[in-house]
Amino acid sequence: MRIDIPKDAATIISIFENNGYEAYVVGGCVRDSILDRKPEDWDITTSAKPEEIKELFHKTIDTGIQHGTVTIRMGGCSYETTTFRIDGEYEDNRHPKNVEFTSLLSEDLKRRDFTINAMAYSPDKGLIDMFGGIDDINNKIIRCVGNPFERFSEDALRTLRAVRFAGQLGFEIEENTYAAMAKIAPNIATISAERIRVEITKLLMSKGPDKLLTAKEAGLTKVFLPEWDAIVEKGDGERIIRSVNIVNKLSQGMEERDRRILAFAMLLAETGNAKDIMKRMKFDNYSISMVDRLTKKCTCDFDISKIELRKFISKSGLDMMELLYMLRQAYYSGFGDEYSEYMMEIDRMSKACYEQIVADKDPLTIGDLMITGNDLMENGIPKGKMVGSILNALLDAVLEKPELNHVNWLLKKSAIFYDEMNKTLK
Ligand code: ATP
Ligand code: MG
Repeated sequence: MRIDIPKDAATIISIFENNGYEAYVVGGCVRDSILDRKPEDWDITTSAKPEEIKELFHKTIDTGIQHGTVTIRMGGCSYETTTFRIDGEYEDNRHPKNVEFTSLLSEDLKRRDFTINAMAYSPDKGLIDMFGGIDDINNKIIRCVGNPFERFSEDALRTLRAVRFAGQLGFEIEENTYAAMAKIAPNIATISAERIRVEITKLLMSKGPDKLLTAKEAGLTKVFLPEWDAIVEKGDGERIIRSVNIVNKLSQGMEERDRRILAFAMLLAETGNAKDIMKRMKFDNYSISMVDRLTKKCTCDFDISKIELRKFISKSGLDMMELLYMLRQAYYSGFGDEYSEYMMEIDRMSKACYEQIVADKDPLTIGDLMITGNDLMENGIPKGKMVGSILNALLDAVLEKPELNHVNWLLKKSAIFYDEMNKTLK
């Protein structure tokens, strides 16, 4: 079998070979090439030791010397290059306590998680497939290298990786691998929130987010996302997955972060505590806040009057409106019934109205008013809380009638508000 590898990767491999070492591209890039998927990055495995790698190449970065990883820079690209190694005993279900270098490729391939991830390739030696990776690719099967029970016991993250690859590739998890996974599932509690988040994100945004149902069945999500188990047990799991699929499709071409936010907002739309869950998964503050706001507005009723919509946007934030319309479209499509058709029709009208508001540049925030707090103070309103209250009152008026957003009217009205407020204070 021939694999098309980048010219620079081939150059790196031949430099190793010309100096008496073995070297191969390995793991995900081999798997993806065979599957006709574009590899994210090209990892290299070699018999050369880190110091030897650094002697052979000018531009290197010490990525993880203690684990044998040196990044080689060539042609503007990075190639993570790792010395053949045997993982030592596992300390805490994820970190090998120590790694031992070896001169045998076979030992290095043995430590890898799944047969489809344990293949190596060099243009000279061709494909090295010691564990039936090709067969499993052809049969669309995720299978552990070696004894699945032991492999999952060494590193519990592999259980989630199995589900994630099954989702991404549209594969099924082999029977013994699945049984071991379900048995070891509670160990996922020992894995950090960050690493779980990475896997769940990849799964959720893949072509097969329905494998989240497999994760539930195996007892994985119970540990770190019990809210999902509750949704599935209520009988709503498949519908939510349908909506996740739809939102992923709708958001194609958008920024990765927004796509991720939409997928999680969809997943968590009915949990009622999306914010806590996003925090628990250690998301960044922006994503936490967006998912929180989006889920809170996912099912609210839209009033399709322009005035009400301006008030809604003013309160919710213009920045989330596009995402909100998309989320709601996916959410209601998931039901596929008459009521949801009706809701979507209302949303379409609301969106047209929203687009008009944006095109007209209607004022929506205090910052959009033609005067500022300073203007008010220059006009005799004392510094303090009242300035803010008056600006808010002016905004309320302008949200109803945008044409009033003129300096003269605003100043005149602010004087009236000021008088009224003083009177009620007395
Ligand atoms: P992708 O990059 O698409 O997520 P990948 O297979 O390249 O998939 P990486 O996490 O980049 O996954 O890891 C590269 C390779 O390292 C894998 O293909 C696998 O051989 C090995 N590997 C990664 N994580 C583990 C693990 N937890 N246990 C055993 N081997 C692993
Ligand atoms: Mg990779």
